[in-house]
Amino acid sequence: MALLSNLGYPRIGDQRQLKRALESYWSGQSSQAELIEVGQQIRLHNWQEQAAAGIKQVPVGDFAWYDHVLTLSATFGVIPTRHRNADHSITLDTLFAMARGTDSNDQAHDHTCCKGQSAACEMTKWFDTNYHYLVPEFEQKQEFKISYTQILDETKEALAAGFTPKPVLLGPVSYLWLGKAQGEFNKLDLLPNLLPAYQDLLAQFKDLGVDWVQLDEPALVLDLPLEWQAAYQTAYQALEQHRPKILLASYFDSLADNQALALSLPVNGLHLDLVRAPEQLKPVLQNWPAGWVLSAGIINGRNIWKTDLRSAFNKLKPVAEQLGDKLWLAPSCSLLHSPVDLNSEQQLSDEIKPWLAFAKQKLDELQQLKQLINDPQDPVSLELLNHSDKIVQHRATSPLIHREDVKQRVANLTSAASQRYSDFATRIKQQQAHLNLPAYPTTTIGSFPQTADIRQTRSAFKQGKIDNDQYIKAMQAEIRQVVAAQEALDLDVLVHGEPERNDMVEYFGELLDGFAFTQYGWVQSYGSRCVKPPIIYGDVKRSRDLSVSWSAFAQSLTNKPMKGMLTGPITILCWSFNRDDISREACAKQIALAIRDEVVALEEAGIKVIQIDEPALREGLPLKEAAKVPYLDWATEAFRISASGVKDETQIHTHMCYCEFNDILPSIAAMDADVITIETSRSNMELLDAFEAFQYPNDIGPGVYDIHSPNVPEQTWMINLLKSAAEKINPERLWVNPDCGLKTRNWPETNAALKNMVDAAKTLRATC
Ligand code: GLN
Ligand code: ZN
Repeated sequence: MALLSNLGYPRIGDQRQLKRALESYWSGQSSQAELIEVGQQIRLHNWQEQAAAGIKQVPVGDFAWYDHVLTLSATFGVIPTRHRNADHSITLDTLFAMARGTDSNDQAHDHTCCKGQSAACEMTKWFDTNYHYLVPEFEQKQEFKISYTQILDETKEALAAGFTPKPVLLGPVSYLWLGKAQGEFNKLDLLPNLLPAYQDLLAQFKDLGVDWVQLDEPALVLDLPLEWQAAYQTAYQALEQHRPKILLASYFDSLADNQALALSLPVNGLHLDLVRAPEQLKPVLQNWPAGWVLSAGIINGRNIWKTDLRSAFNKLKPVAEQLGDKLWLAPSCSLLHSPVDLNSEQQLSDEIKPWLAFAKQKLDELQQLKQLINDPQDPVSLELLNHSDKIVQHRATSPLIHREDVKQRVANLTSAASQRYSDFATRIKQQQAHLNLPAYPTTTIGSFPQTADIRQTRSAFKQGKIDNDQYIKAMQAEIRQVVAAQEALDLDVLVHGEPERNDMVEYFGELLDGFAFTQYGWVQSYGSRCVKPPIIYGDVKRSRDLSVSWSAFAQSLTNKPMKGMLTGPITILCWSFNRDDISREACAKQIALAIRDEVVALEEAGIKVIQIDEPALREGLPLKEAAKVPYLDWATEAFRISASGVKDETQIHTHMCYCEFNDILPSIAAMDADVITIETSRSNMELLDAFEAFQYPNDIGPGVYDIHSPNVPEQTWMINLLKSAAEKINPERLWVNPDCGLKTRNWPETNAALKNMVDAAKTLRATC
C-alpha cells in the first residue's frame, strides 16, 4: 500500500490572508496578536486540507511569517549583530527587522531590537524559482543554538490539534551552502558548530513523539565541490542519534553525480523530483537501500497542469510492487510554488480550467494516484484513468493550443532570422546618421511615476466604469505630460512612460494569443509579496498591435526620437507558468517571433529606437552547469530573433537590472543589442570592469542613479560615476540613464534627479 506525503503547502492562504495580515501589522493598523491569529488559522486550515486528502503526516515548518530560511536562522540564533536585541531575545519583530530593515517607519516596531536604522539582510532567488529567501549571514565565530522555537511550537500546535506532524526544515549542508560568510573564511568550517544545534532540535522532535522529519537538501541537485559532498557524510553521520526518522528531500533537478552519495547517507528515506528529473528513478531503484522510504515526487509542485494519471500510474506501478508501503506519493517539491485553489477561479474559460490543478487540486491528484496504485482493478480506478485520459486527449488536440502557422514559423527559422543585416560597427554609423544624438546621450528605462490617478483609470477601465475612448484619452493625456516633462528636461531619447502597463509581462500576455490569466493564482515571491504569473497554454501569436498605437502617438508629440518599449521573450517566458507539452526553447521562439512582428511594426510606424527589456535572462539559468550554455544559446537566439527584423539604422536597446554579469558576458554580447542599459550605480561602476575586460563592443548605459531610493543624486556624484565609467569604456560608447524604470518614484524626485542627470551629461559633453 503506497502512502501519501507532502513537502509543504502554500502559506499565504487562499485569499492571501497572510499578506493582508502582515501589511496591516507592519503599518501599525493591527496588533501582533491579530497577526498571530491569522497565521494559526492558515496552518490549521492547511493541515485540515491535507489530512482530508489522506496525508497522514502533515508538514510543519512550511509555514513562515516571512521566509522559512529566515525562520531557521532565527531558530539557531543566526542574527546579524545589527539586528540583535540587547537582551538577546529573538522576537517576531527581529525576523521582520532582518527581512525588511528598520529604516521603514513601522509604527508596530519600536526599534529596541535594532537601535534605529539597520539594513535588511540580502534576499536572493531560491534556486531556479521566483521565490526569494533571506540569505543567512554567518560570522567567523558563529554560534548555533536553539534560540527561537517557532518550529517546535508549531509541532506542538499540530499535535494538540490532533494531527501527526512531520517537521520540515532545511538540512545542515544546504543551510550553510545558502548562507554567506561575513569575512574571509570558509563557511563550511562552521559545520562542526552547526551540527549540535541540529542534534538538539532533532532530539526535541523525538521527545515530542515525532516519527519522521523531512530535511530538505536541495543543494544535492547542484554540481557540488568535493568538500561539500564530503560534508554530507560528516553531517548526516553526526545526526545518527536520538532522533526521528529522516526523510532527505532533493528537488528541482536530478541528484545526478550526487546520487551515490545521497544513497550512502545514514537516513531513512529519500525524496526525488520525478517531474523535473524522471530519469533518476531507475538507477536509484537499482541501488535502493533496504528499508528506505522513497518519496516519489510525481505531481508537479511548480506548475499548474493537471497530472496525466495514466502516465504517472505506469511509472509508479512497478515501484509500488518493489517497495510496498515504503513508497510515498508526493508532489515534486513543496506546493509553496503553486497557487492555492483553482476553485476560486470564476473567469477562466471552461475549456482551459479542466486542464489545471493548483495546490488543493494537487492533493486530490495524490489521493487519486494512491487509489490507482493500491487498487488498480477497482471500477473507481478505471473511471479515474478514463477521466484523466479524456482531459489529456482534449488538451493535446485542442485548437486553442495548436496553431499550425506558429509551429511552422518556428520550424522554418533559419540563422538569418537571428542576425541583423550588418555588424554593430556598420549599424552604429547608420544609427548615428539617423538619430543625430550628442555624445553621452541621455535616456530613461521606460516607466515614469505610476500615480494613483493612472492606477485608478486603469482599474476603472478594467471594471468597465469608463469606455475605451475615455481610457485612451486619459492615457494619452498622461503620455502628453510625460513627453512634455522630458522635453523640458532636455533628454535626448524619450519614452512614453508606460502608463497603460500594470505589469511588464501581464500587459503583453493579455494582448498575445496563447495566454490565460487567473484572478487568484498568487504565488509567494517574498514576504508579503506575491506574483500572479500568466499561464502560457498555447502557441503564442501576435494577432493585434501590442504597443504601436501608444508609441506612435507619443512620437507624434515630439521631434526627438521616441523609444518603443517591449518586454523580451525570455522575460515573458520566465515570469509565466510554462507549457509542459513543448520545450521552453520552442515556446521562447514563438514569443520571440511575436515580439519581432511588433518590433517591425514599430519601425514601420516611424519609431527609430526600440528597447526590448530582458531583466529575467539570468533568472532563467538552469541549476546544473552543463545545462547553462545550451540555455544561454537558445535564450540569446530568441532575443536576437525578436530584434533582428529591422533595418540597420533602427537602434535596438535592451535593459537588465541586476549586477552579476561576469559569467554571462559572452551571452550578453551575443544578444548584440546596439545599446544595453544596466543597473550599476550601487556598485560604483565596478560592474563595468567585466565589460572592459571582455572588451564588450556595443553601446552601454551604466545606470548613474539608484531608482530604488527617493534620494535625489547630485550632479557631481553622477559626473564622477560617468568619469570612472569612461576610464573603462570608450566614452563614445557610453549612454547616461538611471538604473531602472521610474514607476515607483514620484514626480518631484523624478524631475529633480533627471535634471541633475541631464546636467551631468552636458557637463561631460562640454569636455569632449
Ligand atoms: N521598461 C521597464 C520599466 O521602465 C523595465 C522594468 C524592469 O527592468 N524591471 O519599468
Ligand atoms: Zn530594470
